[in-house]
Amino acid sequence: MTNTIETPVSLRLSSVKNIIIVLSGKGGVGKSSSSVQLALSLLSVTPTTRVGLLDLDLTGPSIPRMVGLDVPTATVHQSSAGWVPVYVDQGRRLGVMSIGFLLKDRGDSVVWRGPKKDGMIRQFLSEVRWGDLDYLVIDTPPGTSDEHISLMTHLHPLFSPNLSRPTTPSSILITTPQTTALNDTIKSLSFTKKLALPVLGLVENMSGYVCPCCGEINDCFGRGGGEDMAHRNELPFLGRVPIDTVLVSLLDAASKGDVPNTNPVNGSEVGEGITQD
Ligand code: ADP
Repeated sequence: MTNTIETPVSLRLSSVKNIIIVLSGKGGVGKSSSSVQLALSLLSVTPTTRVGLLDLDLTGPSIPRMVGLDVPTATVHQSSAGWVPVYVDQGRRLGVMSIGFLLKDRGDSVVWRGPKKDGMIRQFLSEVRWGDLDYLVIDTPPGTSDEHISLMTHLHPLFSPNLSRPTTPSSILITTPQTTALNDTIKSLSFTKKLALPVLGLVENMSGYVCPCCGEINDCFGRGGGEDMAHRNELPFLGRVPIDTVLVSLLDAASKGDVPNTNPVNGSEVGEGITQD
């Protein structure tokens, strides 16, 4: 008989078949947008596929806005079985969890040191009642920071071959073709190697601009750097996404009319967005 290492995180995530961590070396390369598009694409794998989207960008949560849930009615409900994610669709096939839902005011900024972030990430991983999920997409902040170390520490038990139902997390790297972004992507790649986190592949975002008038492609940020990097590092190249003005307006649409305030949050106000049974 084999020993199993069950922790609150491994127990909670035992109902999740696949965990995909989205990483980027730099901010602004489209990591959150890619996480949203990945989650939406995975929904179409089958008509019953269920997907979770966990926003671990604690200081800059943008997922609620991108999925149209940056509204006062999008609150997290605390049931006896855990925190119920906010669902994008009536069929409850795409659930989202973000610190953005827990703030008293959506415009509040979160100013936390590492241990506090670690506590929040542990709660997100152990207390959210995702139910049976085919995929959990985890959007992380740029770089390799406190959040990444916490995430991998809490997910560590999932790498044990002795778990009754192993779910080994994997990752996807997002970059733009510019040299500065590519250089920082190397650091993310090195992070995955150090932690033996499998990489499913690399996406080159903002790869060329398609003129909406004439359809001509302008390589304003360069093109192909991500693909070269993928080949050099023997990573699957998952594809290029051009700069798309329609995507920008769609992702920004939900925030129209909101005027963010500038209140820093010291921690006590996080959780005011949770409703209880
Ligand atoms: P990150 O998570 O890496 O910081 P975001 O996903 O927040 O980046 O994207 C930064 C900005 O770039 C957002 O306004 C987003 O709408 C825009 N963006 C991302 N990818 C594309 C794209 N392919 N075409 C046009 N705009 C994009």
